Amino acid sequence: MEQIGPVRGTRDLIGEEQRRHIHVVETARRIAGAYGFDEWSTPIFEDSRVFSRTLGETSDVVTKEMYSFADRGGDLLTLRPEGTAAICRALVSNGLTQSLPQKVFYAGPMFRYERPQKGRYRQFHQIGAELIGTAEPLADAETIALARDILDALGIAGETVLHLNTMGDLQSRLAWRQRLVDYFREVKENLSAESQARLERNPARILDSKSAADQALMAGAPLIERSLTDDARRFWDGLRTALVRFGVAFEENPRIVRGLDYYSHTAFEFVTGSLGAQGTVLAGGRYDGLVAEMGGPPTPAIGWAGGIERLGMLLAAPPAAPVPVAVVPLSEEAEPAALKALSMLRHAGIRAEMAYRGNARRRMERASRIGAGFAVIIGADEVARDCAQLKHLGSGTQSEVALEGLVAAIGRSA
Ligand code: ATP
Ligand code: MG
Repeated sequence: MEQIGPVRGTRDLIGEEQRRHIHVVETARRIAGAYGFDEWSTPIFEDSRVFSRTLGETSDVVTKEMYSFADRGGDLLTLRPEGTAAICRALVSNGLTQSLPQKVFYAGPMFRYERPQKGRYRQFHQIGAELIGTAEPLADAETIALARDILDALGIAGETVLHLNTMGDLQSRLAWRQRLVDYFREVKENLSAESQARLERNPARILDSKSAADQALMAGAPLIERSLTDDARRFWDGLRTALVRFGVAFEENPRIVRGLDYYSHTAFEFVTGSLGAQGTVLAGGRYDGLVAEMGGPPTPAIGWAGGIERLGMLLAAPPAAPVPVAVVPLSEEAEPAALKALSMLRHAGIRAEMAYRGNARRRMERASRIGAGFAVIIGADEVARDCAQLKHLGSGTQSEVALEGLVAAIGRSA
């Protein structure tokens, strides 16, 4: 029969890769808990309008990357390309807009139709955090501190730099936008085709362009700093002060604009030099308009998402799989006692294996093949005296232990 491969841009997570993945999620979950974030899970598909409304009809995600389809009932659905819009939809659907603030953590698969390459897939995975219902810059600082602490706990904070920018409030952005359009109109014919199209619709996104020609022109583009209103400037100052108090180091980078269109004030990215063009491992910002787009009341919010694959690739050594203990009955008569010992070890949380068949020699061979640390050997003698021979496979040393003391004996030497 012809083999069927995985869909382009998707990957199976097996062995070391799955362990990297789990380690990222579990670490993030633990730190998020300490910061008071509760985990939510939302469906992986949504009414397409959840994303088309909120990502902005002109964003790359909506125009080129969404996996959308009509289901058998004719409903237009989309495999979620990101988590934030779905969390806001869930906030409104579950009547939580009056119980604010909500601090939400999530982890799961996302889907975007992109050109697959290292660190860029069509099904990928994100961890994310949203702090909904607080307009204070202290909330932004707390959410960013959470991200930094997760990177720290993963041992990769030193490999990333936090780039920070402000997008101002609406009034600041309108003033800045006009200055941008004026600037880029002057040099329009030198812009990439894509950026020429963005010029009238959403000129700020030209700053996000990866084209070399566009990037050269950006050097002289006006910065938002000069267009900030007094309120926006106060917010920007408040954020930087709070970050310093949280002990979070950052670099101001006026070129950071979030790809999605619903952001205001804070925009940030944790960037690494070691993953080539896929250097942004975690990114976020403030999105004060999004909950209202979902049919809820105007609600301020701040959040971020991190790419689990990219974070996992930065981990120095993935956590090792636990070393198993092999249980080896010396004869068929010893099998019931061996199974009892096997259960005892497993109930104590120790990874334990017994080969399904084979004589004692075969089973000892298998114990070393699976990299067992200990063999628990049980023969007729041991059955009679309710004990086992505990053999340390590295050194070959062996000692007799009572079955009731087996878990403790292994625990002591682990
Ligand atoms: P990029 O500029 O790399 O396309 P983005 O701005 O589209 O990123 P976000 O929507 O901010 O990314 O998603 C947050 C994070 O999710 C990114 O920083 C990255 O780590 C990860 N990510 C985004 N798209 C992919 C993908 N296709 N494959 C793997 N990880 C991804
Ligand atoms: Mg992208």
